[in-house]
Amino acid sequence: MQILESIADLRLWRGRQAGMLGFVPTMGYLHAGHLALAQAAREDCERTIASIFVNPTQFSPNEDLSSYPRDPERDLALLRELGIDAVFMPTPEAIYPSGYQTYVTVESVTQGLEGGVRPTHFRGVATVVAKLFNLVQPHKAYFGQKDAQQVVVIRRMVADLNIAVDIQVCPIVREADGLAMSSRNVYLNTEERKAALCLSQALQAATEAYENGERHPDRLREIARGVISCQPLAQLDYVSVADPQYLVEQTAPVSRPVLLSVAARVGKPRLLDNCLLPRHLNNDRHALTAVLGAV
Ligand code: AMP
Repeated sequence: MQILESIADLRLWRGRQAGMLGFVPTMGYLHAGHLALAQAAREDCERTIASIFVNPTQFSPNEDLSSYPRDPERDLALLRELGIDAVFMPTPEAIYPSGYQTYVTVESVTQGLEGGVRPTHFRGVATVVAKLFNLVQPHKAYFGQKDAQQVVVIRRMVADLNIAVDIQVCPIVREADGLAMSSRNVYLNTEERKAALCLSQALQAATEAYENGERHPDRLREIARGVISCQPLAQLDYVSVADPQYLVEQTAPVSRPVLLSVAARVGKPRLLDNCLLPRHLNNDRHALTAVLGAV
């Protein structure tokens, strides 16, 4: 496995690759969710590359950039074991050299949900992903449903800027008890780890209500909110029932697939979780890719 630390090394490597190239962008501290993306890339593509880059522009000054968990040696061992061909690990200075001043802004789909709480986040995400796509020039790129709004934003950007990459969306990988895997789960102490289950339980309760015929988005939000507000260690940020393409909050009874999202702070980290309704859409990446952020 090639470890590419500079843009020059990456360009040299890219120039030598023939055939379909699959790309998995990450911020490192890898878990089974990241590895599922890498596995999907391996299945589809002749060549695969991952990136590990904790992107400073997607963190606001009061967020956890400096304490974001890192373990590059372990990450590289995991990727090597999976048979990934190369890993791009640039420095922040290589990606944002002094004098840098160009950013990508995606409009309405970045306004709600996470964008409401983190107003500059998606500008950083869109910018770094556009730069990584320009550098890596992949045929396919793999993203997790875990960050569903990110998928919608990236797919909008790719369509709007005519970037020739096929975005694949992979299902959320969960711990045995239902907690969505996240690099930030490492911040949770034992009590908070138990409390964090309220996010997946909230989705589960609303999904069951949907399956029992409940279609009113206010009622679905209320059911999910009720589960999280019973947990004293969780501070709810939002519950959303939105269409999975434009992320418009639904106000009338739903008759098409919707994205149900929750975000809450539990101890130090903010945790996110989501599911599509109906439930079967969450099970495989082909169904997910057809629905979430499809443009
Ligand atoms: P991150 O390193 O947190 O930026 O995540 C890199 C990629 O992994 C993103 O596309 C995430 O959506 C995806 N990802 C993170 N957690 C999970 C998970 N539990 N299941 C599936 N994909 C995930």
